[in-house]
Amino acid sequence: MKNYELNNYRSKPVCDMHIHPHVELPLDETIKIFENIKDYFNYEKIALQSLPYHDIANNFKTLYLKSKIDGIYANLGLIHNLDDRDTQDYYSKQVKSMYRMGCDGFKMLEGKPTYRKQMGRPLNDSVFDKFYEFAEEKQLPIVLHYGDPVEFWDINKIPKWALERGNLYDDSFVSFRNGQKEIEGILEKFPKLKLILAHFFFVSDDIDYAEWFMSKWENVCFDLTPGSEMYFNFSDRIDDWRRFFVKYSDRILYGTDIYNWQQGDLSMEKKYSHAVNLVRGFLERKEPFLNTWQNKEMKNPFGFEDDVLDKIYHDNFIRVFGEKSRELDKEYIANECANFLSAHEFNELEVSNMKQIIDWFKSE
Ligand SMILES: [Zn+2]
Repeated sequence: MKNYELNNYRSKPVCDMHIHPHVELPLDETIKIFENIKDYFNYEKIALQSLPYHDIANNFKTLYLKSKIDGIYANLGLIHNLDDRDTQDYYSKQVKSMYRMGCDGFKMLEGKPTYRKQMGRPLNDSVFDKFYEFAEEKQLPIVLHYGDPVEFWDINKIPKWALERGNLYDDSFVSFRNGQKEIEGILEKFPKLKLILAHFFFVSDDIDYAEWFMSKWENVCFDLTPGSEMYFNFSDRIDDWRRFFVKYSDRILYGTDIYNWQQGDLSMEKKYSHAVNLVRGFLERKEPFLNTWQNKEMKNPFGFEDDVLDKIYHDNFIRVFGEKSRELDKEYIANECANFLSAHEFNELEVSNMKQIIDWFKSE
C-alpha cells in the first residue's frame, strides 16, 4: 500500500521540492532509495537539493541521480574555500559550469547560522553578485536556507533538545533580524530573483513580516519543509495563516527534507513518513491528527480544498522549476567530474562513486 492509501490523502501525484541526496552511500543504493520514495509517496517530480557542505561531491551525484531516475530536478550548491580564492570571479565560473552541466537551479545552505558564521561574510556580499545576477537572468530558482527557529537565539526559549545539540546562537552568530536583512539586501539588488526560502523562512511566528516580505518581492516563494516549530505556530493563529496561505497559494511549495537515509530493516513507513505525514496531514486534514515525528497532536490543521492543494503540491513546482528538467551536457559533466576527482582527496567508496559517474556520462 502506498502512503496516501494508508492515510487517506488525495490520490493525485505530488512534487517534493526539498529532498537531499547527501548521505555517502553506494550510488546504486541511493537510486533504489529514491525510486522507493517516489513510488511509496506517489511523487511525480522531485527537486534534489545538493549539499556540497556535507558531501563535497554532492553536485555530481545529484546530476547522476537526475540522469538515472525519471522526474528528478537538480539544484546544485556552491563550493567555498573560505580563503581569498573565494572571489566574484570564482563564483561566476562555478555558476556557469553548473548551468552548462544542466542544473535546474541552486541550493544555498549558507544561511544556516553555523555555516554563515564559518563563511564570515554576509549573504548579500558583493562577492556573490555575479552568482545571483546569473540566477536572476536565467530565472533559475535558488532554494535558500536562512536561519533556524527564532527561539534558538534565546537561552530562555530554546527547546532542550536543541540546546543539547549545540544550537544556541550567542553573540558570535549573526542575529536573527540581521540575517533577515541580508536576504532583503539580496532582493534589493536582484528583485526578480526566483528565491525560495526554505522552512517558511522561519517566520511562522511573525505573520506581519511574512506578509510584508511576500508583498514586496513578487518572485519569492516559501517552502513548507518542517521546521520543528512551524506547524505549531500555524496552529496558534490558524485563521490568519489560512487566509495567508490562500492569498499566497501560488507561492508556497511542498517539501519534506527527507534524505537518502539507509533503510536497514525499517519499512518505508517507519523510516520516511514522519515529515511527509506532518505536512500532508496539516494541509489536508480537517480533524486533529497525531504528528508522529514529534509525537504530538496537531489540533488545528488547515484542511484545504483541492484548488489550494493542487497549487502547493504540484502547479507551483511546475511553474518555478519548469515543466521539464534541463538537458544534461553529459560529456562536460564527465570532464568536470574527472577534474574534481583529481583535485580532491576521497575515501574508497567516494572514489568508486565518482568513477561510476564519470563512466556513465562518458558512455552516454
Ligand atoms: Zn534541507
